[in-house]
Amino acid sequence: MSKHNITLIPGDGIGPELADAAKRCVDALSLDIKWEVVPAGLDAIEKYKTPLPAHTLDSIRKNKVAIKGPITTPVGTGFRSVNVELRKTLDLYACLRPCKTYKGVRSKYDNIDLVIVRENTEDLYAGIEFEKGLQDTKDLIVTLEKMSQKKIKPNSAISIKPISVEGTKRIVKFAFEYALKNNRKKVTAVHKANIMKFTDGLFLEVARDVAKGYEGRIAFEARIVDNMCMQLVQKPEDYDVLVLPNLYGDIISDLAAGLIGGLGVAPGANIGNGIAVFEPTHGSAPKYKGMNKTNPTAIILSAVLMLKYIGEEKAANRLDSAVASVIAEGKFVTYDLKSDRNDPTAVGTKEMADAIIKKIK
Ligand code: NAD
Repeated sequence: MSKHNITLIPGDGIGPELADAAKRCVDALSLDIKWEVVPAGLDAIEKYKTPLPAHTLDSIRKNKVAIKGPITTPVGTGFRSVNVELRKTLDLYACLRPCKTYKGVRSKYDNIDLVIVRENTEDLYAGIEFEKGLQDTKDLIVTLEKMSQKKIKPNSAISIKPISVEGTKRIVKFAFEYALKNNRKKVTAVHKANIMKFTDGLFLEVARDVAKGYEGRIAFEARIVDNMCMQLVQKPEDYDVLVLPNLYGDIISDLAAGLIGGLGVAPGANIGNGIAVFEPTHGSAPKYKGMNKTNPTAIILSAVLMLKYIGEEKAANRLDSAVASVIAEGKFVTYDLKSDRNDPTAVGTKEMADAIIKKIK
């Protein structure tokens, strides 16, 4: 019996080549890990008639830890996001995205060290949507108009934004507990409570309430989301841990990824009670599929987060240092880490992973 059983979901698009790179890096640490490789995404549909087969969910439930490559969600089709489904089904309520500058990345900023904590199960991502023109939607519009005394254009589509006390409490607590455990100083709650008085208003009120329990240990403040965007661009050094509802968290995660050199280097984790799925912030970049071109750093750093989560702190630090050293040297790195994107000396996904493996001490 292995010490760690880990589910590996290669995903689709650039997912499989990145997942392979991450697996090889983790294997190079010589830990006692048994991988269970299971499918999800576009590539699973043909064989299993679903993008999220039951045995894939069973494997994550059994092993309690998974790492996954990105999965495509075609825009504007009936196909719901496997990523959102996975987070909701397994109640992976906290999305953790540390954004730290690695020396040598192409970015206008130095020394960024932010942690994004995004609520993962509620908000406009709840999947409660009503399509334009359907009878249900028309009925809903009539009811809403009656209840709110406001006009809604008849040809509207409607998305519902639920934000609960319980959902907010647990995500804000998660942010504060993370801050305590990781020696962070401040949590900033991000909202738009001036406009969405009930949903974002609730988020803000509950966040303030939870913050009282940490007074004197972790500082707390709140920012309106549009102002937050500007502040992060102008003075990111003023911020530490950010906690956000689902949609703002999604958007600010990409903004923060931009500050540290782009999606190629931004890792992530989806965490629930005793269960976690690690994955990069970026998507499946279908145009690069199978080209051995994209940066494996984000998924490898997601593996670093995973190793910390399973208690392999030392191994995690060894892998993190190897990644840092390859990026700092700037030689065996993918196109996105070169100062000129067309630099012919850029290496492929596989070669960058090889260079990282060579650096592991
Ligand atoms: P994307 O993140 O896939 O790609 C946007 C661009 O970012 C790419 O064209 C590329 O230039 C760059 N990029 C992304 N990853 C990179 C890497 N590892 N190395 C170098 N450059 C990289 O975003 P998108 O095009 O909006 O989404 C494509 C698909 O991925 C969509 O179907 C979307 O729904 C899905 N998606 C999945 C996840 C997930 O699996 N968790 C997350 C986001 C998007």
